[in-house]
Amino acid sequence: MVAVVAAAALAMRQLGTRGIVRERWPVMGTVAVLAHRGGTPEARVEARAKTDAAYSLVERLLSAWNPESELSRLAREGCTNWLERVSVEVRPCYAEALRLAELSGGAFNPRVGVKLRELGVGSGTYSDFDLGAIAKGFAVDLAAAGMRGDADVLVDLGGNLRVVGTGAWRTGVRDPFHRGANAAVFDLAPGESVATSGNYERFIERDGIRYSHILDGRTGEHVAGIAAVTVVTPPEYGAMLADGLSTTLFVLGPEEGMRFLRSHYPRALALWIPDCPDSPRMVAPPEMKSRLLECAWPIINI
Ligand code: FAD
Ligand code: MG
Repeated sequence: MVAVVAAAALAMRQLGTRGIVRERWPVMGTVAVLAHRGGTPEARVEARAKTDAAYSLVERLLSAWNPESELSRLAREGCTNWLERVSVEVRPCYAEALRLAELSGGAFNPRVGVKLRELGVGSGTYSDFDLGAIAKGFAVDLAAAGMRGDADVLVDLGGNLRVVGTGAWRTGVRDPFHRGANAAVFDLAPGESVATSGNYERFIERDGIRYSHILDGRTGEHVAGIAAVTVVTPPEYGAMLADGLSTTLFVLGPEEGMRFLRSHYPRALALWIPDCPDSPRMVAPPEMKSRLLECAWPIINI
């Protein structure tokens, strides 16, 4: 068995550099970026302070990678009444994770930690209950909520992006087959969020098969056929939902995923990239296709 665990690359990237001040730092096993366009040095310092406060609260309460976090401690105690027991600041994250699990018939499933650990894929987790699929988006919403909004800031945590302020940000969806260019380019509008889930960042290879860190929560099996899913959400859905939906739609695939979105989250947009590097293409509804300024491959309507 060859264990190859690639470092988490940024699936989404903000394009363009003119007049942008960017800060980058490691956190939660990934990379945090704040991109400021305009604004005063004081506003930038304040935005960074709000972001640091949000991320350390999420690490302290929601990390399945820290044995002393509230989540790991409650999981060790065999907690079953999570919504009553967890700190009030993070209750919305648990509630949305449990709602996604119920609505998706278990495709999204915070309990996959056990199986991931058995597989040994990117799961140094200390907990059988794992919010790794939604908690970074929640952290981004928390950071964005603390900002004044009078300066343009792009909050990015491991490729979970949210736009603060009044300007749009040109955003690229990376080619999941690592050929360097963008698969697609679009403008992320003020207040919108975007997240991507993929099988090309954290995985192991066993007998020539790549097992990604995303499992079908209904079966515990690895998900074949999809390389990446990108989800764009409006301000009222936020980055937490973009994060949780990208994982859910990765598991459900395009047909079932579009039915799921249209029934439960009709204002979200999605773009699937099937795992076929030799004949790359994308699958997206017309509402997403009309947002794309560039796309490297044919798009199949859904
Ligand atoms: P996403 O698609 O957003 O989520 C995939 C993750 O969700 C998997 O890693 C797994 O944990 C879980 N998952 C898999 N299948 C399902 C499913 N069907 N339903 C629900 N969930 C599923 N990583 C480190 O290497 N070191 C750290 O110290 C570290 N600390 C962290 C602390 C916090 C608070 C959080 C939230 C995450 C931390 N991580 C750490 C994990 C890492 O940052 C990413 O969160 C993780 O790799 C998943 O993010 P993603 O966007 O790549 O994938
Ligand atoms: Mg996610």
